[in-house]
Amino acid sequence: MKKDQIFEFFRRLAESNPSPETELEYGNVYQLLVAVTLSAQATDVGVNKATRALFARVKTPQDMLDLGEEGLKAHIKTIGLFNSKARNVMAMAEILVREHGGEVPADRDLLTALPGVGRKTANVVLNCAFGAETFAVDTHIFRLGNRTGLAKGKTPLAVEKQLEKRVPQPFRVGSHHWMILHGRYVCKARQPECWRCEVVDLCGFKGKIAEQGAKPATPQGAGARKAKEKKP
Ligand code: SF4
Repeated sequence: MKKDQIFEFFRRLAESNPSPETELEYGNVYQLLVAVTLSAQATDVGVNKATRALFARVKTPQDMLDLGEEGLKAHIKTIGLFNSKARNVMAMAEILVREHGGEVPADRDLLTALPGVGRKTANVVLNCAFGAETFAVDTHIFRLGNRTGLAKGKTPLAVEKQLEKRVPQPFRVGSHHWMILHGRYVCKARQPECWRCEVVDLCGFKGKIAEQGAKPATPQGAGARKAKEKKP
């Protein structure tokens, strides 16, 4: 995708959703960090169901320590991998209280030093809570970047580096949300809904699907689609 096409790609996505936000529910930066940590290999809807009651009680790392690991588990037991997530969230709360005065640091290295916080989680928190121009590459953004030609790469980090280079202003802060929403609801993994895609003329995917239920445009497209749909 060329420079002017990338600008137009985001201009259209931004036009249809001027104020994009994460679908995770949270009331402050600490709750966002916990919600994103819990959302690994889980849906935002499932996380929100569990955190509504949890966040009514827990607003700070000290509140989490006061609740205790067993209390936390009781709230999040419907979320996959809840035992290890609970351990990480408790260890994280302890470090935040001990080393950061109970605050969430606005720094990627400090964030990724916390238990259970990887680069993607740190990028989401930096972007959503601190307005940083970070690109958290999840499965949707990885697929969208590769399919469209916007940011190709074999690993999430390679795609992130491409996005860092290629996403123009004024879309750098919001691009993460627009790409996730587009990947989640339009450029879906199994059958991209190209027939209703607002960036269809800009997208370089060879296996576009012109009509609902139709096959990909070319046999090569079908093959490419399979290869590109591998999760990062
Ligand atoms: S045209 Fe199809 S493959 Fe390209 S971004 Fe839109 S939905 Fe995805």
